[in-house]
Amino acid sequence: MEDIILLKQGEIVLKGLNRKSFEMKLVSNINRRLKPFGKFRVYSVQSAIYVEPQSDDCDMDGAYEAVKTIFGIVAISRAAACEKDKDALLETAKRYLGDALSRAGSFKVETKRADKSFPMTSIQLSQYVGGLLADAYPHVRVDVHNPDFTVHLEVRDYAAYVHGPSEQGAGGLPVGTNGRVVSLLSGGIDSPVSTYMIARRGVSVIPVHFFSFPYTSELAKEKVVTLSRLLTKYCGRLRLKVVPFTHIQEEIREKCPEELFTVIMRRFMMRISAKVAEYNGCKAIVTGENLGQVASQTLEAMAVTEACAGLPVLRPVIGLDKREIVETAVKIGTFDTSILPYEDCCTVFTPRHPRTKPRLDDVVAAESALDVDALVNEAFENIDRIDIEM
Ligand code: ATP
Ligand code: MG
Repeated sequence: MEDIILLKQGEIVLKGLNRKSFEMKLVSNINRRLKPFGKFRVYSVQSAIYVEPQSDDCDMDGAYEAVKTIFGIVAISRAAACEKDKDALLETAKRYLGDALSRAGSFKVETKRADKSFPMTSIQLSQYVGGLLADAYPHVRVDVHNPDFTVHLEVRDYAAYVHGPSEQGAGGLPVGTNGRVVSLLSGGIDSPVSTYMIARRGVSVIPVHFFSFPYTSELAKEKVVTLSRLLTKYCGRLRLKVVPFTHIQEEIREKCPEELFTVIMRRFMMRISAKVAEYNGCKAIVTGENLGQVASQTLEAMAVTEACAGLPVLRPVIGLDKREIVETAVKIGTFDTSILPYEDCCTVFTPRHPRTKPRLDDVVAAESALDVDALVNEAFENIDRIDIEM
């Protein structure tokens, strides 16, 4: 019998009545994610999920790496299947874990028995296999309290399994179980991290990028496409919306006070994002804002910015230190792309002395020089969609 991948579900198990639909979502996310690696059977039993290859050419290493980025899974291990027999379990443990076991200082055996018709109790089976493993590896001590290495045995309905220590999964909740948001994706470090963080709570994401061609180049857009692609391994397939932003920025520059440029521009981002949200059933807008990082990220500026959003603005990285954001960006693999030096629409038009504590009525007064609705509609109607496959 072949090896399988064994996954442990996370918080889903706390969801009571919704549990079945959470599980189904997770299983379908896993199925979609594993397509490139061959044909697998994925099913859940209690809070475990089994991933069984259905043919010899399945890429088990690829599949194992892929499941590490699927939200809703807390632990991952590879397991070897064998007959439901105490000696088959012993031999499989030797073959499959012998190397790791002989390198350990101490070990124990732990058994889970779902099949209650199996003739030994969990404790009897652990003692039997543990005793004979201790004989086979006499230099490795048995330590049931604090072992270096644990041999896991599982006796299930159709087969038994042997596995070693598990690795941590991606955590969070399955994407698609907690609604949908618009996430503002610049080419910077912060917004890929905030997008990742909201997706981790089970939220589907529609990334939106404001593009200021020719002030920012095609390369800047390509960078956002690359970032989106990197995020698909967490978020699933994405449909990136690229909003033409140049005309709006030129109008603001021409007609509004320079020190309010940034906050007015950000209010346009909110209005357009809210419209995208409305058309796509999204319940919130997500940004990578971080308190105190730049002039537009003061409490006052954020209040003025979100006053025209009309739906909640979520800022997953608001309270992190830059160092923590960078660490996450490195961990999720977006950092190297984020630091490529293409300019962002905000840097091109940055005022020399931005107002750090803008007042809403000043901003509203300044905006009266613009035909806000027409500008919003024009941008919205010319949005470009880019489908990002995994
Ligand atoms: P980031 O590192 O994500 O670019 P930042 O620290 O540079 O963030 P700002 O440039 O003030 O901060 O932008 C704050 C947030 O506004 C970003 O995290 C992002 O969510 C959104 N944003 C900024 N520029 C754009 C853009 N061109 N397209 C889409 N969203 C943007
Ligand atoms: Mg930025």
